[in-house]
This record gives sequence, C-alpha cells and structure tokens, in this order.
Amino acid sequence: MTYGLQDFAIMRSMINGNEADDRRKFVEHRKLDAIMAFLETPSCRRQALLSYFGESIEPCANCDTCSNPPDTWDGTVAAQKALSNIFRTGQRFGAKHLANVLKGKHNGRTEQFGHDQLSTFGIGEELSNQEWRSVYRQLASSGLLDVDIEGHGGLKLNERSWQVLRGEKSVTLRTDPIMLKPSRRKTKGERIDEDGAISTSEARQLFEALRAKRQELAEERGVPPYAVFTDRTLLEMVRYRPKDLDEISRLSGIGAVKLESFGGIFLDLLKGHEALHGRPDDVPMHPKALDTAKQKSSGPNETVRETATLFKEYGDVETVAQKRALKPSTIWGHLTQAVTHGLLDWQQACALSEEEVSEIRDAITAFRSRGIMELTPVHEELGGRFDYPILRLVRAGLMRKEGMHV
Ligand SMILES: [Zn+2]
Repeated sequence: MTYGLQDFAIMRSMINGNEADDRRKFVEHRKLDAIMAFLETPSCRRQALLSYFGESIEPCANCDTCSNPPDTWDGTVAAQKALSNIFRTGQRFGAKHLANVLKGKHNGRTEQFGHDQLSTFGIGEELSNQEWRSVYRQLASSGLLDVDIEGHGGLKLNERSWQVLRGEKSVTLRTDPIMLKPSRRKTKGERIDEDGAISTSEARQLFEALRAKRQELAEERGVPPYAVFTDRTLLEMVRYRPKDLDEISRLSGIGAVKLESFGGIFLDLLKGHEALHGRPDDVPMHPKALDTAKQKSSGPNETVRETATLFKEYGDVETVAQKRALKPSTIWGHLTQAVTHGLLDWQQACALSEEEVSEIRDAITAFRSRGIMELTPVHEELGGRFDYPILRLVRAGLMRKEGMHV
C-alpha cells in the first residue's frame, strides 16, 4: 500500500472542519468510506470500482492487486456473521454500530435499540472492532452488501449477500486490514490499571522493551507504531507471556502477516527477558488457548484441506482453481496455509529446482538478517523471476522447516 493511513485521518478532520452543513459532511464521510473500501479490496481494483456502478467484469490482470495479490484468509464465516448482524438489526445501521454489536459492547446505542438482546450480540470475539469494520468495508467493496451512500450510510443486504448467508458463496478477505485510528488513547496509568497486566516493575520493564522494539520496527518501515502491534497486543504479551509463535498467534490483533513479519522478533525479546528475569509464576492461560486446542485437533479449515487434497492429486494450481471454481491466487493462499500446517510438502508444492530454492532462501535469509521481513525487496533482488505466491510458499516452508524461526 502506497498511501498513508494518516491521509485518511487528515481527510476526516478536513471534512469535520469545513463550513458545510452536517448533512453535506455526512455524505463526504460516506464517500471517504467508499474510497477506503476500494483501497482495501483483496481482489481486482477495476472489478471493485465497476461493481460500484453495478457492472461485473473478470479480474483485469493488470492492477496492483491482480499482479501482487495481498495475503488473504477465508472470511466466509466472518462474512456470514457480519451480514446476519445487518439483517437482525434491521438493515439501517453503519459499520461502527454493527461492529459494536458483534463485539457485544454494552453502550447507549446497543441498549437503546435492544441490540444486546440479538443472537448476533457478542458473536464476534475473534476479531477486533477495527477488523470487523474492515470486514464490512471489504464486503461493500466486493459488492456483497449495499451502502446507502446518500442516505444515512446504513448497510443493507442484496442478492449476493443472501448467497453468502445461504453458504452458496465463499468470501476471501485480506489479512492486513487498514486501521484508521490507533486504539483509543488513555493515560498510561489508566490503561494499565484497566487491563491489570502491569503490576510489577519487572512487567513494566518488559512492556517498555516491547514498546521500544515496536517503535524501532515502525520507524524502519515508515508506519505508525500501531501498524506493527497495538498497545493491547503488547499488554497481552506482558500478561500471557507467550512461549512460542503458536501462543503469539492467539493474542489480539495478530493475523498471519503480522505473525510472520514480527512474531519471531518479539518472541526473541520475550525469551531474552525471561532468561534475565525468570518467568512470573502467576501467568494466566490465554482465553483462546482452549479454542486453539480445539482448532489443533481439527487443524486447518476444510477449504484448505480440500485444496491440499486436490493439489496432491493434480499437482497444478490452475487445475485445482478450475475444479474448485476459485481464483488461482486463493489456491496459492490455501497451499501456503497447507504448508504451514504440514499438510503438504512445500518443495512439492512450489515445483522449483534445488538451485532456485536455495537462491530464494538465501535472499529471504539475507534480508531477514537485516531485519527486513517483507518480500518486496526479495522479489526485486531476484529480478522479479519468482511471483509473490511462490515466495510466500517458500517462506512458509522455511518457517516450518526451521521451527518457525526464520
Ligand atoms: Zn485487476
């Protein structure tokens, strides 16, 4: 992404600060939401843009998301929750309120409308409030719901929404949603009291060390610190003291991309801290630990398994994509997940020669040793000879092979 998140905050405040009446401002905010949704689409930009005008086209193969597809996840269940929530609340609320309902937030509005009594109240624990809003934007940008731009900005179901709700259509979402604002700011003391995470000087020292590392990574990348990890994620690290990447993956706000990019770095820091200070003896279990144990027994989700099975049979991404009526980029994403979960041998999946594999591995390792986790420089270093999906797959294979400590 080449636009800055700050740009959106600035545009918002410009809209709020100008002379227009509230009605006009409202419309401007809705337009800005539409632009956000467009930028955030995991699929073809042209397709997303034209869907706003009611036209549908095949992916263009020319825009940035076509030529370098972002990391995605199977968001079908999340989309069903989000859409069902629109239906239950009467198809007239915006994403902000809808996200609050999914998160089970008791506030004036959810109670005033009796939304705390709905079956969708609090069923969205797995994502953060910001992530749910991103889900709604992404659904809007892919035409899976309608936005009443000129009206009150309420979200409504359309024909395609019902296909998702009936399970006739799967939904792919991008893993790196755009965060519009950092989590709400409070004074340090307050935040720490509320969370209860920081009660000793040892814990405070760890928190400060995590914050310093975050700052360093953010500066290197020219992004705001919360784009690395939010305060909440760092506080959970202090509270739950994850011992491996699997435990880090359970913390709030950590998706596959952040786990890959920063998980190892923060894990090293946590280990270093523990080596010096020991492990506190009252570390609680993370609430998601039980869920994860459940997930482990069932492993990766069904759709990934199906892709892996078909790939073993046909050995070719295009064929599997056709058989499954999914995009090749989605299949590549599944293969990468299958490799991560050990369902598939990565060398078999990437179909590269020994020399090519070691070339890619050397490039990835060289950049990692300099603290650069992204694949863009690797891609360039290798003269663009390997597509991003291949690079991601090799990276996943290396992470698995090396015990996730590349
Ligand atoms: Zn395109």
